[in-house]
Amino acid sequence: MDTRTLTSQKISQGLTAGEWSAKEIAQAFLAAAKQGQNSTHAYVDLAEDLALQAADESDTRRAAGRSLSEFDGVPIAIKDNIMVAGCRATAGSNILKNYVAPYDATVVQRLKSKGLVILGKTNLDEFAMGSSTESSCHGPTLNPWNLERVPGGSSGGSAAAVAEGSAPAALGSDTGGSIRQPAALCGTVGIKPTYGRVSRYGLIAMASSLDQIGVLSRSVADVAGLLRIIENRDPKDSTSVDLLEKWQIPAKLTGSVKGLRIGLPKEYFVSGMEAGVERAVRSAVDRFKELGAEIVEVSLPHSDYALAVYYIIMPCEVSANLARFDGVRYGLRVPGETLVDTYRKSRGQGFGQEVRRRIIIGTHALSAGYYDAYYRRAQQVRQLISDDFTRVLADVDCILAPSSPTVAWKLGEMADDPLAMYLQDIYTVSVNVAGLPAINLPCGLVDGLPVGFQLIGRHFDERTILSAAADYEQAEGGFDSFIPSASPKEKK
Ligand code: GLN
Repeated sequence: MDTRTLTSQKISQGLTAGEWSAKEIAQAFLAAAKQGQNSTHAYVDLAEDLALQAADESDTRRAAGRSLSEFDGVPIAIKDNIMVAGCRATAGSNILKNYVAPYDATVVQRLKSKGLVILGKTNLDEFAMGSSTESSCHGPTLNPWNLERVPGGSSGGSAAAVAEGSAPAALGSDTGGSIRQPAALCGTVGIKPTYGRVSRYGLIAMASSLDQIGVLSRSVADVAGLLRIIENRDPKDSTSVDLLEKWQIPAKLTGSVKGLRIGLPKEYFVSGMEAGVERAVRSAVDRFKELGAEIVEVSLPHSDYALAVYYIIMPCEVSANLARFDGVRYGLRVPGETLVDTYRKSRGQGFGQEVRRRIIIGTHALSAGYYDAYYRRAQQVRQLISDDFTRVLADVDCILAPSSPTVAWKLGEMADDPLAMYLQDIYTVSVNVAGLPAINLPCGLVDGLPVGFQLIGRHFDERTILSAAADYEQAEGGFDSFIPSASPKEKK
C-alpha cells in the first residue's frame, strides 16, 4: 500500500469495498509516520495506541453496519496547538512541553464523532509564530521534497505529513498564512476558512481576531469533506457562526469555472517574487482561462500596509493571549524568590526567542502613549485593507494570488533574520486581516520544489473557491505529480 497516493476519499471507498480495514490503514500510516520521524520529523507525538483502538472500533462499527460517516475509519493528523484529550498539546513550546490536554477541541470532538482516527500531533513553530517550523522546541521539521529545506510554517508538520504520506489529511491553524504557505511549499492543498466558520475552542490562541482552523490534504474533495465535518457554530466559541444552509460546504461540489470572474491583484505580481514562482502561478492563470474563466486585473491599493498592520495587531493579541502562561496555571513553573520572580523565570525560560520578541513588541504597542500611534492606527488601516477586498469582490467572484514569493528555502537561511522571515508572509496575511477564506493549490515545480497559488473568496463563500479549485484539479489530472520523490519532474 503506497500511503502517498491515498486520499481520504480513496481510503473511504476502499473501506466500503472491503479492500482494507481501518486497522490496516492506521497501521500503514503509522509505519510511514515512524519512518518519517527519522527524516522529516513531521510529528511531535504519534498516538499509536489511541489510533489503533479507534481503528478497531471503526472496523467493529462497519461490520455491524453502523458506520458514523463516509470518513469512519479514515486517519487524520492534528497540529500540536489543537487539543486532543490525553495527548500532549505543546504548541512547540518548552513552556507546555509536559502539558497534557484535558479535553478535546471542538474540531477534534467533531472528527471523532464521525469516526475519524487521530494519528498524532504534528510539529509547528512555537505557538504557531513563524513561517518555517524551525522555532519548535522539538527541533525543526524538514521538507519531504528536499531534506535540506524548510517545509514552511507554522503548520509545517501537517504539510510535511500530508506530502510524505504519513497522513492523508491534517488540521492546521492559519493566523497569517500558516496553512496556505506550508501547503504551497510542500505541494499540498490547504484551506483557511472564513473567520467564524470553524470553532477555535481548544486551539491554543495566538491572535484571536485572526486565528482560524483549517484542513490540509491531497485533494480538493478531501478538504471540502473534512471542512464540512468541523464547520458551524459552537456555543463554546462566540466568534463561530451559525451557518445558513447556502453557506454550508455542500456534500458535492458543483459549479464550474466557465464564466467565473477571477481577479488578479496588480499589487501582487511585482518584484520580489521569484521568476519561477511567477511562471508557475501564471500557468495556473492560463489554465483558468482555458476553462472559460474571465481574468480581470484588480487593485488592492492598501496591500503595501498589510505586513505592517499584521505585525502590529498580531503581537498585541499575542501579548494578551500569552499572559496566561504564568508558571502558575499551566505548564512549566520555575520557582523564584517572589511571585513576580516566578513569572519572570517561568516565562523567561519557557518561551523561545521569537515568542519573547512578539510579546515585547505587542506589550509596547499597547502601552499607554503608544496605543494610539500603533494599535489604533493599525486597526484603522485594517479596515481599509478589508474595504479593498469588499470592493474588489463585489466585482469579481474570487481573487487569484501567489501563496508565497519563493519556493522552500534552506534550513537556517532566515532563522536569524526575523524581518526576512516576516516578508515571506506578504501574500497571505491580508486574507486573515480581512477574515476571508482562501485555498492553496499546487501549480508547478521549480528546481524540484513545489509552487502554490491561492484562490481567495468572499466571506463564507468557500463554495465558489472550492468548486473552482475542484475544476482546476480535474483539468490538471489531479495532484499526483506533487508526490515527493515519486515523480519529481518539472512541469512544463
Ligand atoms: N508566518 C506568520 C507569523 O509568523 C503566520 C503564522 C500563522 O499563521 N500562525 O505570524
